[in-house]
Amino acid sequence: IYGYNKKLLRVNLTDEKFTVEGIDDSTILNFIGGRGFVAKYLYDEIKKGVNPLSEENKIIIAIGPLSGSFLPSSGKIEFGSKSPLTGGYGDSNMGGHIAAELKLAGYDAVIIEGKCESPKVLVIENEKIKLIDGTKYWGKGAITCEKMLKEDLGEEYQIATIGPAGENLVKFSCISHDFGRQAGRTGIAAVMGFKKLKAIAIRGNKTVPVKDPDKLLEKGKEMYNEIYRLPAFKTWTPYGTADITQWVNDNGAFPTKNFSMGYFEGASKLTGQKLRETIHVLDKGCFSCPIPCGKYSRVRYSGKEAYVEGPEYETIALIGGNCMIDDIEKVGYINFLMDEYGIDTISGGNVIAFALECFEKGVINKDDCDGKELKFGDMESVIYLIEKIVKREGIGDVLANGVRNASKTFGKGSENYAIHVKGLEVSGYEPRNAAGMLLAYMTCDIGAHHNRAWAITYDIAVGRYEVEGKAEKIIELQHIRPMIDSLNVCRFPWIELGFQLHHYKDVFKYITGIEYEWEDLLRVGEREYNLTRAFNFREIDDFGRKYDYPPARFYKEELKGEGPTAGQKISFETIEKLLDKYYELRGWDSNGRPTRKKLEELNLKYVADELGL
Ligand code: SF4
Repeated sequence: IYGYNKKLLRVNLTDEKFTVEGIDDSTILNFIGGRGFVAKYLYDEIKKGVNPLSEENKIIIAIGPLSGSFLPSSGKIEFGSKSPLTGGYGDSNMGGHIAAELKLAGYDAVIIEGKCESPKVLVIENEKIKLIDGTKYWGKGAITCEKMLKEDLGEEYQIATIGPAGENLVKFSCISHDFGRQAGRTGIAAVMGFKKLKAIAIRGNKTVPVKDPDKLLEKGKEMYNEIYRLPAFKTWTPYGTADITQWVNDNGAFPTKNFSMGYFEGASKLTGQKLRETIHVLDKGCFSCPIPCGKYSRVRYSGKEAYVEGPEYETIALIGGNCMIDDIEKVGYINFLMDEYGIDTISGGNVIAFALECFEKGVINKDDCDGKELKFGDMESVIYLIEKIVKREGIGDVLANGVRNASKTFGKGSENYAIHVKGLEVSGYEPRNAAGMLLAYMTCDIGAHHNRAWAITYDIAVGRYEVEGKAEKIIELQHIRPMIDSLNVCRFPWIELGFQLHHYKDVFKYITGIEYEWEDLLRVGEREYNLTRAFNFREIDDFGRKYDYPPARFYKEELKGEGPTAGQKISFETIEKLLDKYYELRGWDSNGRPTRKKLEELNLKYVADELGL
């Protein structure tokens, strides 16, 4: 097999021991790389019942066969760990330039275990691996720390850092890289923080042979040319993900006021056009990407000036709509604070909106908030909450555990305002008007994340409330995404521009020499989805169907306010119907547990044995 280093670097922080292990052909054939490797190693390496914030939890970092190549948008890297936020399977990916550097340093995966006694930075430079003193970086913002490390080690190092939120074990803290790219979800930065690992710096200069360089070059040119010719290249690229704000709002799917409304009056001030006209400075892209969707912006607030990559759509939705901040520059400033502190803006926006609603409904009051009055749409309220959370001070110490845990602490009916699935806060699409998107949130293995199956466009195209065909579509998307994330390419050329997926089958063959049909690649996605589902059954005592239910607000409360979806809710019968069909199609039992037959079919017999099926 070509195109891989076939090497895994194991870093033991406790002993400061570094070992290089081989990656066998069977792991490559069954899991491809990236997200597939994360799922495989996490399941195999984590002992049942491990506390996510303990020395026994591990961090898996993995890249794929396309990483480091010249192929378009191939700069993604995957991180995984048992999630401190959900207690289940956790992973998150990010773009930037670090995936290519890891490939050139000679590794396809890194497993980090143990715990440092004092803050450290892991430096990987080809075979030279070391842990350096990280004391001077500890306490620094994620972006600031990256800048300091570039100055200290050299501009050529690619660096992933955590901010003070990760250090303080905020359960939705994120890993940051490239001055604004984040592996944001499931709180893996808190695992780094617990391990006292402030940053990872990578530099490499190796090459990896590919099977058929001539065909790869020819195919690569064809892929670039196709991207440049796609009509959406000209319309989507200038605005990046912020391009969809108006469309989502016009369709009544813009999360507003803690998911109580689907339409925000102020959304027209949060569009990609508005961003470009007012705060945009330059476009910024990941390694080898012809569609630089990153928008680097200058933002000013209350006499302060900052630069931020973004704001991207998810931040606009969860801070703009959900916290009702109707000004793109203000959203950008909050984005800057969250990036520097190292907080996932999706979960962070949800947590802040949850706290604002708790205040509005009297669950918490001025006595809990240093005498302050908190309200939706108020910058000072949002900034106050962010700073309390990062420092884990007072009410922030409760909120730092995410909405599910915070609502258990607050009580007084606040669980009705906690918008999550499996403990992970919901992304930026109101799903009461979209049965497919709702099912995608419900059945996503890490919790309510949008990018496993971004079905909102499909819902709108075929009928939002239509149930027929939705489970089939979600499963199809849930098998495509692991394939994309295991090859470690970006989903945007396909999702936003309409780039043809079949190219990946060809380049996979030209790079690796593995002759997989499209169905074989999708099978890898199915294998991974079953394995992570099994992980959740193994790690969460009462895991099953009830963990797939959406927040009660989605089926108990009609959407308030204006817009085309006002007055809508989804019935619980519909939810049960969606799940029944989904489990049946997956070959799982009525509690959503993978069966022995299904696991054996996917070469996962050892998993069926371990689960006692
Ligand atoms: Fe990165 Fe955007 Fe390019 Fe994807 S489309 S690789 S996120 S710059």
